[in-house]
Amino acid sequence: MTPVFAPPPPVLAPVSDGRAFPVARLFCIGQNYADHAREMGSVATPQAPFFFTKWAQAVVPGGTTIAYPPQTQDYHHEVELVVALASGGRDIAEADALTHVFGYAVGLDMPRRDLQAEAKGKGRPWDVAKNVEQSAPLGAIRPAAEIGHPASGAITLSIDGTVRQRGDLADMVLGVPALIAHVSRFYTLGAGDLIFTGTPAGVGPVRPGERLIGAIAGLDDLVVTIGEAA
Ligand code: MN
Repeated sequence: MTPVFAPPPPVLAPVSDGRAFPVARLFCIGQNYADHAREMGSVATPQAPFFFTKWAQAVVPGGTTIAYPPQTQDYHHEVELVVALASGGRDIAEADALTHVFGYAVGLDMPRRDLQAEAKGKGRPWDVAKNVEQSAPLGAIRPAAEIGHPASGAITLSIDGTVRQRGDLADMVLGVPALIAHVSRFYTLGAGDLIFTGTPAGVGPVRPGERLIGAIAGLDDLVVTIGEAA
């Protein structure tokens, strides 16, 4: 068959060694740090983790100026450890989960918080709140073959030099193996899938012109500038 138009290009995320990681799907865990669950007026529930999804096209590399999106007055930052998968499957056992990991990166999960609050209040889907264009900036992926599997260490988000979010990976309600196992009960995970593992407390709004730096001990910093409204 002849395509009626050129297929969209693959989404490629940078690996720290210069290679490219082809992105498939984004799975984003909600409320995986107790202090962030609290600031959202909720309680973290290890027995009942939840997640939502984003298109691969939401990924933008570090160093990008991202447009302030339409239809919001309250675009937020959430700095997160991102797990990049090299393989997958369904019903993955926690004990086997890390064998599927290609590497790790610093990521941002950026919601239209005002639309998220409206969706929660009305019992509506989160898509327009969370699956926002350019809402998943991603730093360079460091291969697990080099750095192992980080389970502790500082995670921070700074805006123009002021630290706004500060946490430790050790404070995740569910660790990476449990998160991979959980998502794989609902979807057949595969190479290219990314899991955003949740954010610590301190989320807040961003404004055009601000420079964000996401940092996790042992990973490459993620730098993003907020542009003018699209
Ligand atoms: Mn998040």
